[in-house]
Formats: sequence, structure tokens, C-alpha cells
Amino acid sequence: MDKLTGIGLQTLNRLEKLGIRTIQDLIFHLPLRYEDRTKVYPIGTLLVGMTVLICGRVEYIDILPRGRKSLVCRISDDTGYITLKFFHFSANQHNRLKPGTLISCFAEVRHGFSGLEMVHPDYQVILNPDVDITQTRLTPVYPLTEGLSQTILRKAVKQALSVWNSEPNSLIDWIPSMILKRFGYPTLAEAIQTLHAPDDSVSLSALQNGSIPALKRLAFEELLAHHLSLRISRNKTKAWQAPVFRLCTDNAISEQFLSALPFKLTGAQQRVIAEIEADCLEQHPMMRLVQGDVGSGKTIVSAYAALLALAAGYQVAVMAPTELLAEQHKRNFSVWFEGFQTKVVFLTGQIKGNARKDILQSLADGSAGIIIGTHALFQESVTFHRLGLVIIDEQHRFGVHQRMALREKGQKGNTRPHQLVMTATPIPRTLAMLQYSDLDISIIDELPPGRKPIVTSVIPAERRADVIERINSWISKKRQVYWVCTLIEESEVLECEAAEKTAEQLTIALPDVRVALIHGRMKSKDKDVVMQAFKNHQIDLLVATTVIEVGVDVPNAGLMIIENPERLGLSQLHQLRGRVGRGEDDSYCLLMYQSPLSDTARQRLGILRDSNDGFVIAEKDLELRGPGEVMGTRQTGSINFKIADLARDAGLLDAIQEVVEQIVVQSPEAIQPLCNRWLGASTDYAEV
Ligand code: ADP
Ligand code: MG
Repeated sequence: MDKLTGIGLQTLNRLEKLGIRTIQDLIFHLPLRYEDRTKVYPIGTLLVGMTVLICGRVEYIDILPRGRKSLVCRISDDTGYITLKFFHFSANQHNRLKPGTLISCFAEVRHGFSGLEMVHPDYQVILNPDVDITQTRLTPVYPLTEGLSQTILRKAVKQALSVWNSEPNSLIDWIPSMILKRFGYPTLAEAIQTLHAPDDSVSLSALQNGSIPALKRLAFEELLAHHLSLRISRNKTKAWQAPVFRLCTDNAISEQFLSALPFKLTGAQQRVIAEIEADCLEQHPMMRLVQGDVGSGKTIVSAYAALLALAAGYQVAVMAPTELLAEQHKRNFSVWFEGFQTKVVFLTGQIKGNARKDILQSLADGSAGIIIGTHALFQESVTFHRLGLVIIDEQHRFGVHQRMALREKGQKGNTRPHQLVMTATPIPRTLAMLQYSDLDISIIDELPPGRKPIVTSVIPAERRADVIERINSWISKKRQVYWVCTLIEESEVLECEAAEKTAEQLTIALPDVRVALIHGRMKSKDKDVVMQAFKNHQIDLLVATTVIEVGVDVPNAGLMIIENPERLGLSQLHQLRGRVGRGEDDSYCLLMYQSPLSDTARQRLGILRDSNDGFVIAEKDLELRGPGEVMGTRQTGSINFKIADLARDAGLLDAIQEVVEQIVVQSPEAIQPLCNRWLGASTDYAEV
């Protein structure tokens, strides 16, 4: 940045707030939109909604004390007049806009009190009427931060461009020209030039809607760089050794395990198990993600992987995001491994003293084969005798670091344990490729037989009384109900308060019903007590915040009311809804929205009503909303792109897959510079 002149420390600090630290950062700081100041519009031709440059003389100026104090000024040219309005203004401004003064203004034309008006136009007093006030190119409008003006930023970008242009190595186009030609993309230099200073050949609308090749090309390059870097990291993983799990040749162990189950595996489960088995025969660590809708039976698949490890004489660690879930796994694994002379132990932060000591001892000396727990598994001084497999459930709830820490516990010399992660958050395939492209992906796309689809209806909050009546009759049939209060403006505190209030109201409205409350600000021990009581049917109606999104099986709870569902992402709603429909009986989900509902919101809730398939829902949601929302804000490890926008550019991903292969084979020298350009030189993506 020291190559730029006229940029003080203060500006540098402000630029840094925008994530701009280098010349390259400035160059990739693209305009948000563009303004067309290439021609002056006669005032008489203006229509509401146009954003245009006009020029006229001040007729009169006045300060209106009515309502909000404002400076009002009328200007006119030969064709008509328009009112300018300022709510923030200075005395100086008042003085400069004397009647007769010629000024130019740029703003959106609106309907005003007395005809057309512009509010807070960008204006300039014209001293010499012979000077052309139009611009030859579209004017870029950059994202700003407090204290930084468009003028400063435009100047800085302009300088940065000329510095960059003069440095021979900065502009190397690492994308082979064959590929550029194939997609009709401009070169890097052309693309950058076009976006910061578009010439006549570029239409404003193509620029605004992001369809121009210049922008596509940069997004393409950025996504490509991310793919390449993950590809490198995957290769690094392959450089580690891992134990080989080979079941005894006669498959007796496998048979014993499967025949003891109360159900037959679905085809999808069998396929995924075969994929895992193949991974574990390799000498390199498995890094596999199992995606499957809620209730698709991921747990048994992971248990089968555990069987492979145990049979080969290795230990298995299973990590779940909540104690409740860990406990549920503990119960399941204990039953499934009953006949296998292996000790299944359980560890959470709550287990202390001698009990803890014994558990740690059994892991260190190898007498425990399977350990199931929460993040206490890696936080504590846990050492393993021979850890061969790490299983992580609901992986989106864990940070990348937690995932790594557990893996490192099993690291010996150049050997690492295999890793299996599971998630019920369905992510469209194209997104999964980027989000998890350091992982191989298996998908369980089939539910166990006999599941009845959840009947979902969308109803307005005005029908609350009917809903309460419905709860009453449901509970009189000895069934249980969830009532979910959703996030209010991203505030957990408010969300909990709302849930408290709702619980109170429902207690009054339903005097014979046992109501309980669970929310995110309760201690996890207290949450577990409530969940356990609900499970034991000591509670009929559970009022909850979205904390129950990842949770336990309570098959008797077959009715769920979700308040204000329009506030949540569809995938999150689908997860929530997955808490019901776990038993044999019919189950229902009522989406109780606040009127009025926008068209998009109505469409989105309609998707949920019409489909029970998490993948279909995620795909459709992606079409309607951005990918960040599909992934959910809680998603850790999601990538922040400089230019690419997955909602807009998802269509590029298939082609990128292909181009990655091509570059690896034909232009390997491009890989490192591309990663450096887009991910930063120091990024060690390899370990993520
Ligand atoms: P999730 O994929 O959401 O983690 P679980 O592993 O908890 O799902 O399984 C949901 C329920 O389905 C459990 O009660 C499990 O025992 C049961 N289940 C799993 N696989 C099958 C199957 N093939 N047939 C019938 N029930 C199954
Ligand atoms: Mg699960």
C-alpha cells in the first residue's frame, strides 16, 4: 500500500476495516453497483424511479420547520422543475444554493409533496457552465465503511490499478487461454478494467445483475482457487498413514453384528457401509462425510465403521455435540456391541473424580474399546492406547479445530486415525463440493421403510386459538407436543424471553397440561433434566427455542408447532420438524406465521409443506435465498468469498470440477499462484 500516494494512516485503517490491506485487495474490492452519469437528463423528461444526472438553476430555497426540519430547494431547466430536499444540512449549504445558482444533481427521482423530488442528491455547484459535467464511463459505487467516501475509494482504486498494471508479475493470467476461450471469458486484466471502469460496450443492467463475463470470470477464478487448494490438502492427507481394518475373511463378525439388529439395513445404508469399508482398507486415513436426512439411520452406519476398527484391534471415539445426544449414542452402541466383549465408556464434562479417572485409565490402557462423549473427549487429558477411528456426529456443530484436535489425539508418528463425520444438514451437492471438498461424501438418500411423512400445514397466527384447541385434544390422546419459538432478530436473549412468555401463556390456556420450557440459556444439565422428563412422558407440552434442532428421539411427540417459521432457513425448519415423525403414528407440523407474509416467504413455506425430502428442500431454498442462509449461520468453516457468490455463481461449479483436473494435469505451475492470489500466501488450508 505504500506505493499509493495521498493515503493517510486514517484512511489505511478504514480500508483495513473493509479487509483491504494490499493493492491486490483494493483491486478485488469491486463496485457494489454503478451510476450512469454519462448524460444529463432534461428535467421535464424525468419519471419516478429513474436515477439520473440533471442540471438546473435554483429558483428558491427555504427551510421548512414543519415536521422534520428540512432544507427545500427548487431547481429548473427549460423543460421543467424539481424539488430537492435535505434533512441534514449546514448553514453553508443554505448560503451556497442561492437563487440563480447553476447546479448538477444525481439521485433517484421520487414522488414528492409538490411534484417530483430528489432527497439528498449528490450535487455540485457549477461555476463554469461550459465545462462538461458528464462522465465518459459508468461511475462505480464501492462498498464503504464509516468515514470513507466514494471519492477517496475511487481515487485509491484508480491508483492501485495503475500500480498493478505496471508490475509485470501481478497480472499474470493463470487461467489457460484455452479455458478462457471455451467460456468466453476476458483476460484477468480486461476483467478488472471492465469492472472498475466499464466502457460503452458494457450495459448497465448486465453489470448490475452480475451476468457479465468479466465478473463471472473472476468468480470462476476464485472458486477454482478454492477447489485447487482443497485438492492440495486432500493430497497431503493421503501422505499420512492409517491403520488398515480388514474384517476376518469369513465375515462372521459382520454377520453377528447385523443379525442382532432389530431391522434390516436399507440399500443406502449398505452402500455407504461398503464405501466406508473400502476406505478403511486403504493405508491412508479415511476422511468421509456421511450426509443423510434426519432419521435416515446414520448412527448404525457409524457403528458398523466402529466394528471394523474394533475387529482390527483399534479403539473408537464418538463425539456428539450435546450430552443428550451422546447419551443416546451410548445407549445404542452399548446394545449393538453387547455380544462383542468390548467396553463402551461415556465421558462428558459432568463426569468427575474417580469415575473420570477410571474412564481415562481404561482408554489409556486399551481396556475400553469405544468412548462416546461430548467435546470433553478432546478437551481433557484423554490419551488413547490405540485410537483408530474418530466418529463425529452432527459435524456442523463443531469447529474445524475441535475436529482436528480429536484426530491429533490418535496421531502416532506418521499415522493418523480414520475419520467419519456425519451431518443431517442437507447441502446441495454443488455447495457440498466446496464446503467439504477435503472430504469424500457419502449420501444416505433413503429412509428406513414404514416412515410416514409428516403432514405439514401453513397457518396464520390469527388461528392460535384453534391451534391451542388442537393441542388439547392431541394431549388428551396421551400424545406429546413441541412448541418452538424461533429466533427474534438474531437475539438469543429475546428468543428465550419469548419462549418464557409463551410457556406462561400456554400454561394458563391449557390448565390440564403439563408444560415445560427448554431454551439455550439454560445450563446443559438443566436442559437434560427437562429433555429426560419429556422423554419419560412426565411432560406433555415442551415449549422450546431452536435448541432442540439437534436432538433426541421422542417417538410419542408427534405434533410440532413452529411459531414465526418465516424467520428461519428452510433447512433449519426441516431439521426442527425432523423431531416429529419418529414413531409409527401420524405426525403433524404446523407452521404458524405472522401475517402478512411476503410472496417469497409464502413460497418458501410452501416448499416445506410439499416436501419431506431435505435435499429437495435445500436445493429449492438455494434458488430462493443465498447459500449462506442454506448453510445456516451456525455452519462453521463456511467460506467467505471475495467475489464469488454461490447463489449467483453455483452454475459455475460443475465446469470448475472439470477445469481443476485439467489444470492439475496441464498447468500445475498455476496452482500455487492461484491459491496465493485468492486465499493468501500463508493460508495452510492443508490442515483444515
Ligand atoms: P439419524 O440419521 O437422524 O442420526 P438415527 O441413526 O438416529 O438417524 O436413526 C433413526 C432411527 O431409525 C433410530 O431409531 C434407528 O434405530 C432407526 N433405524 C436406523 N436404520 C434403520 C433401518 N434400516 N430400518 C429401520 N429402522 C432403522
Ligand atoms: Mg443422528
